Amino acid sequence: MKYKSIALPRLNNLQPTIESTALKLMEETGELAQAIGKYRGMSGEDKVYEEAEVMEKISAELLDVAQTAVSLMFVLEEEHKMDIGEALEKHVQKLIDKGYLSYPRKTE
Ligand SMILES: [Mg+2]
Repeated sequence: MKYKSIALPRLNNLQPTIESTALKLMEETGELAQAIGKYRGMSGEDKVYEEAEVMEKISAELLDVAQTAVSLMFVLEEEHKMDIGEALEKHVQKLIDKGYLSYPRKTE
């Protein structure tokens, strides 16, 4: 099974809330959508960026989304006493239950 592990910092110059972070997450997902769609001319734009430039922009905006999601996880843990580790276990089980993920068979 392949994993993509990233470590993103807890931002220490902000006082985020669920609401402010959720709004930021929507802003960043909008910027990601803009990079994927608008910059590639998918809505009829005249100006289409070079493929490498678009992929760099998509990667940057995707990390903005991930950073904001991680910031919201910190808010849930620190301000609302949620256990993100426990939520992660439930998340993985959900992926298995939906058939999106299967563990390799044991070789005994
Ligand atoms: Mg952004």
